[in-house]
Formats: sequence, structure tokens, C-alpha cells
Amino acid sequence: SSSFTTTLAGMAVGVLALTVAAAPTLAQDKPTVGIAMPTKSSARWIDDGNNMVKQFQAKGYKTDLQYAEDDIPNQLAQIETMVAKNSKVLVIAAIDGTTLTDVLQQAKDRGVKVIAYDRLIRGSENVDYYATFDNFQVGVLQGSYIVDALGLKDGKGPFNIELFGGSPDDNNAYFFYNGAMSVLQPHIDSGKLKVGSGQVGMDKVSTLRWDGATAQARMDNLLSAFYGNRRVDAVLSPYDGISIGIISSLKGVGYGSPSQPMPVVTGQDAEVPSIKSILAGEQRATVFKDTRELARVTVEMVDAVLGGGTPPVNDTKTYDNGKKVVPAYLLKPVSVDASNWKSTLVGSGYYTEAQFK
Ligand code: BGC
Repeated sequence: SSSFTTTLAGMAVGVLALTVAAAPTLAQDKPTVGIAMPTKSSARWIDDGNNMVKQFQAKGYKTDLQYAEDDIPNQLAQIETMVAKNSKVLVIAAIDGTTLTDVLQQAKDRGVKVIAYDRLIRGSENVDYYATFDNFQVGVLQGSYIVDALGLKDGKGPFNIELFGGSPDDNNAYFFYNGAMSVLQPHIDSGKLKVGSGQVGMDKVSTLRWDGATAQARMDNLLSAFYGNRRVDAVLSPYDGISIGIISSLKGVGYGSPSQPMPVVTGQDAEVPSIKSILAGEQRATVFKDTRELARVTVEMVDAVLGGGTPPVNDTKTYDNGKKVVPAYLLKPVSVDASNWKSTLVGSGYYTEAQFK
């Protein structure tokens, strides 16, 4: 019994020690993190928001999560309110990367730290860190998928391709496009890939607000103007929502049948409708960016900026926002198609298999 008493006493000391050690991290001591996301119209941003709230709250932070439905004044007002309501850190995925300069100055004046989330915030010194994926590499994966699927390296071709870019106000869109073109351009130069419409360059191929319907309308025009008597073999699409629009347009003129197979269409974000489309043999590939990992890096950055530690950073030269080079952490994107979707997406617990039944 004496050893029992000793054990109990030891436990009491242990509990006391735990209580003391835990005290500085109690929830009421941790500030509010304002999280400004662009839109709920794409599932990836809903996942981003949910993952961050979960991970911040697990560390005792309070969170104020807002979605702006791709409306710039709405996002500005949300961020102003976060600053006014005393958020100590802002985590922002901007709709338009250049429109936040004034509100970020207000934030700076109040000592609020700012993390650019996934998308670079441009034109402001008041951006402390940037958590994102290797955006150029996303494009490289998309371009490489097309090159491999068409067999260009085995000397096949020539093939017809059309190019789609993301939103011109999103810095990422240029990185995706340039990454893809770094792989496609040599084949365009050699004549093995032909852009049937001749529309090349972000000024010609971008898609405002990443809108699927806008992409569908452009694809309708391309098909009727340039593909009356030839077929399109590949379409570079930067994002799953755009891919869905492109594929409806293609189906509308008869692609997706044995005599007229779908072109190779890429995508990004591994959203459920696009994985289903891949399983149905329509979209060919997407790029998975694990938003749980992005949330984890962001929480580490916030912990460090508030606690005086060193934030995780693995890139200090790529992301010049026009006022400063923002120190960044770049995560690795992963190419996903019918051959690896299950191991990558279900195996990692990102999705359940039931979501695809
Ligand atoms: C993100 C992509 C996303 C796109 C449209 C980009 O900034 O990096 O993952 O597909 O926005 O939401």
C-alpha cells in the first residue's frame, strides 16, 4: 500500500506539473486567427477552411473563418472586420492578389501578422510569410501528363492541343501556365503539338475567377471556329472546375464515344466530381494538393510568428510580390489519374472510398 500511496503522490505531482506546463497554452490565452477564404464554390477551399479551423483550435486558438464568394469588396470588408475585431493574425487566400494593400496597412499599424495562404498577396510589404505548394511544379505535372499520355517522347504526333489558364488576378495562374509551357513549348516548337486556335499566352487563354462556365463558353467557340474538320487531342486545364466545363463542351459535340475519344484533359485539386470524371474515363488527370498539409504549415507559421520562433520556410527567392520577396514554404503537388487515385486519395485518408460509389 505504501508504494500505492507513493504512486498516487507521484501522480499528483505529475498532474500539477502538467497543469503548470499547460497553463501558457490554455485556450483563453491564445488569440483569434482571422481566416479569409475566397469562395465556397470550389470544394478545395471548404477543405482548407475546415482543416485550418480544426488544427488551430486543437492548439487553443480561436478562429474567425470567412468566405467571400469571389467578390473582392466582400473579402475586403471581411478582412477589415477581422482587424477591427482584434484578430492577431490574418491567414488570407486572396481573390485578387493586388487589392489588399490598404487593409494590410491597417493590419500592420495594429501589429497584426499576415500569412498569404496558397495565393501570393501582391503589392504590399505587409505580408510576413507565404504558405503554398510548388506552383510551377503543378504546371510541370500537368504539361508532363499530356506529353506522356500522347506518347510525344516516343515520336508520336502531330497532335492538336488547346490551352486554358487560370484567373489573371491570381499570381498562381501564371506559375501554373509557365510550368506547363516549360514542358509543352519544346513540342510546340518541334511541330509535334499544334495549338489549333493559335491562342497562346496568359493574355489569350486565361479564365477570369477560374469560372467553369466561362471556360465552357470559350471551348464551345474554339471547337466551332477551329475544329470543324479535325480533332483536338489534348486540353491543358489548370483547375478541375475548368476541366468540367471543357469536358461538357467536348461532349456537346460528340467527344467521349468510341469513334471520337475524349482528348487528354488535365486538372487540379483532386475534387470529387473530377475524380468521378476520371473514373468514368472523361477527365484524364488532376493534381492533388493535400490541404491538411497546407493547414499544418500555416499553423506552424502562426505559432512561430506569435511565439517568437522560426517559421518553416524552404524558399526565399521565388515569390517577389512587387514590394518584397515573401519567404515561403512550398509543399509538393502530386499527379493523380486512374492508376493511383485510390492509394493517393483514399489511402491517405483524404477521402473515403464511399465518396466515389
Ligand atoms: C489554387 C488552385 C485552385 C485555383 C482555383 C488557385 O489559386 O492554387 O488550387 O485550383 O486557385 O480555385
